[in-house]
Amino acid sequence: MTRVDFTLNDSPVSWEGPALARLLDVLRDELGCTGVKCGCREGECGTCSVLLDGALVNSCLVAMGAVTGRTVLTIEGYRRSERFAALDTAYARHGAVQCGDCTPGMILASEALLASNPHPSEEQIRTALSGNLCRCTGYNSIVAAVSDAARDGGSLWELPGEKSVAQAGSGLPLAGSGDAVVSDAGAAAGDSDVAVSGASATPTPSATAAAPPAALTLSDALRLRDEQQALPYAGGTDLMVAGASAASAGKDAAATQAALFLNNIPELKGIREDAENLYIGAACTYSQLLDDPRTPAVLREAISQIAAPAIRNVATIGGNIANASPKADSALILYAADAQLRLQSAHGQRDVALGDFIRGRGQTSLGPDELLCEIILPKAHLGNYRYQKIGARKALAISRVSFVGLFAEEDGVIKHLAVAFGAVADTVIRRPEIDASLIGCTLAEARERKDAWLAAWEDAIVPVAGRVSAEYRKTVCLNLLRAFISEQLG
Ligand SMILES: Cc1cc2nc3c(=O)[nH]c(=O)nc-3n(C[C@H](O)[C@H](O)[C@H](O)COP(=O)(O)OP(=O)(O)OC[C@H]3O[C@@H](n4cnc5c(N)ncnc54)[C@H](O)[C@@H]3O)c2cc1C
Repeated sequence: MTRVDFTLNDSPVSWEGPALARLLDVLRDELGCTGVKCGCREGECGTCSVLLDGALVNSCLVAMGAVTGRTVLTIEGYRRSERFAALDTAYARHGAVQCGDCTPGMILASEALLASNPHPSEEQIRTALSGNLCRCTGYNSIVAAVSDAARDGGSLWELPGEKSVAQAGSGLPLAGSGDAVVSDAGAAAGDSDVAVSGASATPTPSATAAAPPAALTLSDALRLRDEQQALPYAGGTDLMVAGASAASAGKDAAATQAALFLNNIPELKGIREDAENLYIGAACTYSQLLDDPRTPAVLREAISQIAAPAIRNVATIGGNIANASPKADSALILYAADAQLRLQSAHGQRDVALGDFIRGRGQTSLGPDELLCEIILPKAHLGNYRYQKIGARKALAISRVSFVGLFAEEDGVIKHLAVAFGAVADTVIRRPEIDASLIGCTLAEARERKDAWLAAWEDAIVPVAGRVSAEYRKTVCLNLLRAFISEQLG
């Protein structure tokens, strides 16, 4: 059993239970927050959206152990604010709600957007809501409602120092709910002094907020990993989905295993650079990387197409690698850039090439006492690029084929050329020996050798069938390859 102290809708909560219990289930079943709706339980619909330290997350993918010391805001807490009233009124005015199941999540996603960007464009609104599905109303009226709320109530989101409701707590201007479109169901939590109840939850008297957790040092984490072989949990977006399918098959080993929460280890969240390399902490989230100007453009482009904001707020680059999926979109870029991984244990550290670390679908050479700590990216390998992700839709799309080509030249001589194909075979396809045939060539020489290079790649791409046929994958790969090399060589 793990004890988790956190703040829910301004009230401190002390909860005990399994560390990998879902925040969604605890909120609904134990803490009375039934405004948090349960939809897909796989992070694909957004009905369970809540704000965690002001950031939009899918509560179905957040393990309780990752909530320690943090603030959770659900619709029950948010509905007491003037900001809610402004959004609620705009949603009602535009008829932007029908069955209402998605509405609490939509409203919180709208709040998360406006708190960081009080005057968003239509495109920014659509991106912010892209992980929240609505099957009745249609998005136009929802987008119009958010746009109106921003226009009419923009100053509400511009209060000095008030970046997010969850951080601001109850200092928010209170309001009635006007033409309320969000139901009262489950509004008890956050509306009273004794804000929570539940079999294993006890409100902490007189405290105003759970104390922030003391950060775990990396050496503490490595000791725990060594002693208990605790399961690394970074953002949980792969683990919690895998846990759900294992549980439904009656074999949820992860539910009983000790978990090591990496989200509160500062050494794993840093980004630094020197003249040759960029060093990215394994627990950097995608949102953190998108916000950091040092993130290379090609990595930024791949990350901006991963899932939707609520996933990007918690999912990490290290988790994408360690999960060892051939569809991993950020890992694809790291393959082409010849990234090295720094692995550490209580007994030492080693650097290993990404291509050697990943041994097959879901298989890596990570030792039971090791953690992936840092990703080392050689800057010289990040010149021109072409990145393409082929999926079934724009947001929340899993790659059917993904491609990256990196190209760097100096004084007309090719210094680096690398291509990689994701979602095509059991691991990312990367063949440095083929690309080496053009490295060191002048552009004119490379043009002459281009056909031989393409032919070698044609043999090397051996796709497997999946959601799409092997033939389709091969055709798409070759088209992308030809487009890339023609762009670079002219
Ligand atoms: C709805 C949805 C959409 C998605 N869309 C995409 C997409 O478009 N593209 C894509 O690539 N992925 C996608 N994913 C998958 C997932 O979000 C990513 O793979 C993400 O980067 C995983 O990171 P995480 O921090 O959540 O990993 P976790 O789930 O925490 O961990 C994943 C695995 O890595 C291990 N691990 C994590 N960190 C470390 C570490 N530092 N050291 C050692 N082991 C570690 C864990 O033990 C676990 O085995 C999606 C997932 C969902 C639910």
